[in-house]
Amino acid sequence: MSYTADITIIGAGVIGLAIASEVARDDREVYLLEKNETFGQEQSSRNSEVIHAGIYYETGSLKARMCLEGNGLLNELCTKNGIAHNKCGKIIVATTAVEAEELEKLYRRGKNNGVPLKMLSRREMSQLEPNMKGIAALFSPTTGIVDSYALMRHLLGKAQSNGARIAYKTKVIGIERISNGYELRMENASSDFSFTSRVVINCAGLYSDKVAEMAGINVEKANYRIHWCKGEYYSVSGGKNKLVNRLIYPVPMSISVGAHVCLDVNGRLRLGPLFYYVDEVNYKVDDSRKKAFGESSIMKALPFIEPSDLDPETSGIMAMLQGQGEGFQDFVIRHEYDRGLPGFINLVGIESPGLTSSPAIARYVSHLVNEILES
Ligand SMILES: Cc1cc2nc3c(=O)[nH]c(=O)nc-3n(C[C@H](O)[C@H](O)[C@H](O)COP(=O)(O)OP(=O)(O)OC[C@H]3O[C@@H](n4cnc5c(N)ncnc54)[C@H](O)[C@@H]3O)c2cc1C
Repeated sequence: MSYTADITIIGAGVIGLAIASEVARDDREVYLLEKNETFGQEQSSRNSEVIHAGIYYETGSLKARMCLEGNGLLNELCTKNGIAHNKCGKIIVATTAVEAEELEKLYRRGKNNGVPLKMLSRREMSQLEPNMKGIAALFSPTTGIVDSYALMRHLLGKAQSNGARIAYKTKVIGIERISNGYELRMENASSDFSFTSRVVINCAGLYSDKVAEMAGINVEKANYRIHWCKGEYYSVSGGKNKLVNRLIYPVPMSISVGAHVCLDVNGRLRLGPLFYYVDEVNYKVDDSRKKAFGESSIMKALPFIEPSDLDPETSGIMAMLQGQGEGFQDFVIRHEYDRGLPGFINLVGIESPGLTSSPAIARYVSHLVNEILES
């Protein structure tokens, strides 16, 4: 069978779904291709479900801009469509003098990014979180949590009702530039097949570098090589979820925001993610690393949690542009016309805060698509 499409989106994680829901219209043929049996089986369902405020990212970066705009859009979308979410707020707590100095820097960066923030007095700290220990703390009232599955189900429904079609168990294995767009080769359980599309949007998450490579991009030169960073979560037993009222984070002392309190919309308490780089996709939690939790900053701030309260739970793997020990890298969201690929849009390195940013990224990409289709 041969198809032609106006827009083809590769990957049905939260980013592909959000883009599909934004670009689909009656007069457009829009396809969403997903290699797994259903949507959102990779990064988008294996994360902390935090609606970030935009504190951590370099001022002016796409991460900072998309996160701030996404925070507002996501809260609005959830409220309007009955998607479970909670603007519970978050505290970042310092337990040492060095961390307190870093916390000041974080406060200034967050403020520069336009994020509402407040340094807490000791009294306010113990009023808000009586069981938390720390010497200084920062309060972020616009941080929240969202039911990521419900969000994706909503985005899929909206995309489909706007006319987008989704094909599961369909893996893109080749992309070739042709005169009026791209020929995409795919495989499913029974055969290989192909179709053409005027616009192609790469939202392949952990494999976004491979998809960019299929289109002929030299990913080393473009700095698109993805590094896989695994984050492990531990559930906290013994009714200790009643001893925290909101998200509590340590002061980040490396590239990661650090293992933190994760609450979901049902009040379930987890700690994590504890991150390390990996070279295979394997979601088993390596509980030999549990000892590292005992020594983490978050455990110092929450002395009522004993290492024996922690049970290995789930993990997620993040698509990072920064390799081990490297500095800040921004999201890549780029129309690749100047690489000889008009109509090809790459989204590479959409790691945290990608879930938060998803509605803002979808708008951004929708503008790029309109420019391409109207040119
Ligand atoms: C541990 C962890 C914690 C996080 N915490 C947060 C948080 O609290 N807040 C936040 O805002 N963000 C968080 N993030 C980041 C967020 O989860 C991601 O940015 C977001 O889910 C990325 O979505 P995506 O659609 O780009 O990728 P994915 O969800 O990975 O989706 C990509 C899809 O592409 C498909 N695909 C790949 N290759 C092909 C192919 N060749 N053909 C067809 N389909 C293909 C995959 O099967 C997959 O379904 C976290 C991430 C992790 C891992």
